[in-house]
Amino acid sequence: MPKPNKVNPRVALRATAYSVRMMFRSNPLAAIFISAVEIIQAPIPSVQAIFTGVILTKLAAGDWNGFLLFIGLLVALSILRTILQHVNGYFSQVLQYDIHNYANEQLYLKVNRISIAARETKENADKLEIAERYALSLGWLFPRLLAIMSQSIAFAVAVAVLASLSWPIALVIVLTMIPNSVLMIQKMRMERKIWKSNSVHRRKGWGIRSQLTDQKQTIELRVNGLYNYFVRQWRKHIVQDRVEEMAAERKFLPWEMASGSLQSLATLGVLAWAGKLIIDGKLEIGYLMTIKSLMDNLMSSAFQVVSSLSQVGSDIMNASDYFAYLDLPEEVDGEVLVAADKPPKIEFRDVTFTYPLGEQPVIKNVSFTINTGEAVALVGENGSGKTTIIKLLFGLYPPDSGEILVNDVPLSKINKVSYYKHLGALFQDYSRYTFTNFTENIWYGDITRKLNKKEILEVVDKAKLTPLVNKLPFGMSQILSKRFDDKNGTDLSGGQWQRVALARSFWRNPNVLILDEPTAAVDAKAEYEIFQEIAKSQHGKTTIIISHRFSTVRKAEKILVIDSGRIIEQGSHRQLMALEKGLYREMFELQAEGYLD
Ligand code: ADP
Repeated sequence: MPKPNKVNPRVALRATAYSVRMMFRSNPLAAIFISAVEIIQAPIPSVQAIFTGVILTKLAAGDWNGFLLFIGLLVALSILRTILQHVNGYFSQVLQYDIHNYANEQLYLKVNRISIAARETKENADKLEIAERYALSLGWLFPRLLAIMSQSIAFAVAVAVLASLSWPIALVIVLTMIPNSVLMIQKMRMERKIWKSNSVHRRKGWGIRSQLTDQKQTIELRVNGLYNYFVRQWRKHIVQDRVEEMAAERKFLPWEMASGSLQSLATLGVLAWAGKLIIDGKLEIGYLMTIKSLMDNLMSSAFQVVSSLSQVGSDIMNASDYFAYLDLPEEVDGEVLVAADKPPKIEFRDVTFTYPLGEQPVIKNVSFTINTGEAVALVGENGSGKTTIIKLLFGLYPPDSGEILVNDVPLSKINKVSYYKHLGALFQDYSRYTFTNFTENIWYGDITRKLNKKEILEVVDKAKLTPLVNKLPFGMSQILSKRFDDKNGTDLSGGQWQRVALARSFWRNPNVLILDEPTAAVDAKAEYEIFQEIAKSQHGKTTIIISHRFSTVRKAEKILVIDSGRIIEQGSHRQLMALEKGLYREMFELQAEGYLD
């Protein structure tokens, strides 16, 4: 959706208030300091210009003591200004980092508060990406506003001093500055328009760049001879706005040359005029320098005000992108707590569900009950909807129709924090925490539980990982990727990773253990042993397993057979095998004969 290239006053106010609040919260001392310094230092250049004039006048009059006094004052002012500028620069940077970090932190906290369904839409994914990029703008906003204020004061003081020497001169100078300022504003507007209109190119460029630097893509890009082609594509997209900018810049060139020349002529005229006033005895000789310095000050202040104003405009527009994500509606958690004493009963009642970006329902009129402490298995072909049922059970998406009940209460009314305390899941796309070591990869299953090395080693053993840990040079302290530490790091195979994730769910020790093909990448012997362990530890607790291996499935008390989003059979192994033309029986026999894995 193209955005208007205009600053919305409400967003401007909100962004400024946000930036100020953050500034004073993150480092109040620095905030007060830089605000005060910006005001104090504004009139200094004009005072310096006056002193310069006085020094020359004293010199011309042969007043040695007066000359020395003002030279001393001038030097003192210069030192003060230098100190203020450096300390100010330092505090500005500190504040910018703080505000930027705060803005990003708010964004990441927000990500966790919006529903998975809302996160999945492309629009919101785009919003997050843009917001992340522009969080920095909020850091710039207030220091820039302060600079505008300070430069405006400097400008006003210089005009006042100049007018006190000769108001017609002051008037001429201010008037001749107008064309240059107008040109600058127009040029910045144009640049911003070009920048905005090329956002698609830039994002494509960024997308290609991430492919170029992604290790996982290296082999395919090399083998297919794509790498250099992609570099050229990245370049083409990324330079697009520069190409357009240069073309527009050429159009401005003659006008800029004309207005620059006009300003030089005006300076010359003003100096001649002042010279005449001096010769006529109406102005002291030193003030020629004062006027020249004041003119320089005026031009530099005007330049800074105009350029900061335009940047503030961009900052505010960027801030509106940031707020667009921060304003997304949040998921409201239910209030009914799930009793902590035993695994909850979970029931699906005639549930139908379509993914937010999907067209057809993938779950159709599904009903089943998982009683406290039951061992349940879900079987069905790939894509039949097993994982989706688990996601719905977690309440990650609301169903189109029907109800999901936890201890007979609709899931929408359930307090998820209390519900999730019961649940532990090993999904197919489980996380790999490659930045940290073996121990932490397991501890992350439940960080509220005290990290006890002995107990961690027990779950490592349950997941049949002890031989691997014994082989690693750093054992449980081994970082699980070479990317983060090529000396202490190691890369694990798919099967090993899966067992680490399994150990993590064991560490969680949940009342309802959900395993989505937990041993798909593990050999048959290890799988058998792992399931023996699961059976032991889940006694009295609920287990939900998705598996293709019937040797595992058959042990469940209740088996749900899913086909194209529907439950077509449910019951125990024996009950399902008794169905003459049942799908379960057919699949079981095919696997027994070795046709299915
Ligand atoms: P299974 O676990 O049985 O292999 P899934 O539950 O993962 O099957 O998928 C069921 C169907 O839902 C598939 O057709 C799949 O393509 C689709 N699907 C899965 N995730 C999404 C999603 N996030 N958005 C849209 N469709 C999805």
